Amino acid sequence: MSTLLVTGGCGFIGSNFVRHLLATDAAVTVVNLDALTYAGNLANLADVEKNPRYTFVKGDVTDRDTVRAVMGKGITDVIHFAAESHVDRSIQDSGPFLRTNVLGTQLLLDAAREFGVKKYVQVSTDEVYGSLGDTGLFTEETPLHPNSPYSASKAGADMLVQAYQHTFGLPAVITRCSNNYGPYQFPEKLIPLFVTNILADQQVPVYGDGQQVRDWIHVEDHCTGVEAAWRKGTPGEVYNFGGKCEKTNLDLTHTLLDLLGKPRSLIKYVKDRPGHDRRYAIDCTKAERELGWQPAWTFERGIRATIDWYAANATWVAGIKTKDYLSYYEKQYGKA
Ligand code: NAD
Repeated sequence: MSTLLVTGGCGFIGSNFVRHLLATDAAVTVVNLDALTYAGNLANLADVEKNPRYTFVKGDVTDRDTVRAVMGKGITDVIHFAAESHVDRSIQDSGPFLRTNVLGTQLLLDAAREFGVKKYVQVSTDEVYGSLGDTGLFTEETPLHPNSPYSASKAGADMLVQAYQHTFGLPAVITRCSNNYGPYQFPEKLIPLFVTNILADQQVPVYGDGQQVRDWIHVEDHCTGVEAAWRKGTPGEVYNFGGKCEKTNLDLTHTLLDLLGKPRSLIKYVKDRPGHDRRYAIDCTKAERELGWQPAWTFERGIRATIDWYAANATWVAGIKTKDYLSYYEKQYGKA
């Protein structure tokens, strides 16, 4: 039996991970610690809230007493998703990113040591590697070169994890994944933002020339990667995950408009993000070789399923696109 502390389980990837694990492993119990920030949503796990193997704790990873109290109740393993996760918000105000992503990680690491957890998984991002030119891929050996306050805070957390593993022998692994898409993603991120706008016949804001390249992975493939790193990862190791699916933001926008049968006139070019990384692409052969992991979703299947999900879950979207969201949106892109 494993009792997992999953932090940030009410966010996009965390909620998909909790649902996946409860459905596929009857020997797992999950404690979800989430502060319910603007990005955390109890509705993301409404279908599992009555599961006897699931407990929700509302609490902040930057609060030492909360973290110790939760960890001390028989937690065997930690999967740390909780983070401030949106680059644009980190440019508006980096304070919460440093607090949650760096300090929160430190408190979790301290508690994981104190209570002797068997495995600690730090869910990180390929953005810690910085930006690539037209060719090449990030490997686990690529030096960290974060360019945004968000990626700098995630890189800081990664280095702390490595230091705790090296200094104290904490059995920790780090996963670094490319851009996720799928159900329950907060519609500030590109795919749910564009899909929900297009569904409502609203314009979609494309940064700069739209030629930035990202690798896209379906969230369920990321979840199976994190699970494999937890079960089979060697302490001290880093594992990259990606979808082998590079696209420019503009090509992706065209695909979404075409799939939804809407005109390209819905594109609104907006001023580029300051310091915008040009290209991310990831080599995940280590995860394939050492963890036996493979992405199961093609982009074509995944994006259709994702569009269908947002179209079918208009109430979930409407519950988010309220006052705070709209004022953030207007500040970032102008009126919708
Ligand atoms: P998200 O913003 O959707 O969810 C974050 C969750 O963390 C929310 O439920 C929020 O309430 C919670 N949280 C935030 N601050 C907290 C705090 N101080 N204490 C407790 N809970 C707190 O994020 P996501 O997209 O699901 O990303 C999850 C993790 O995966 C992050 O660590 C992110 O860096 C990483 N990641 C994301 C992507 C991606 O494409 N979204 C790719 C690679 C890695």
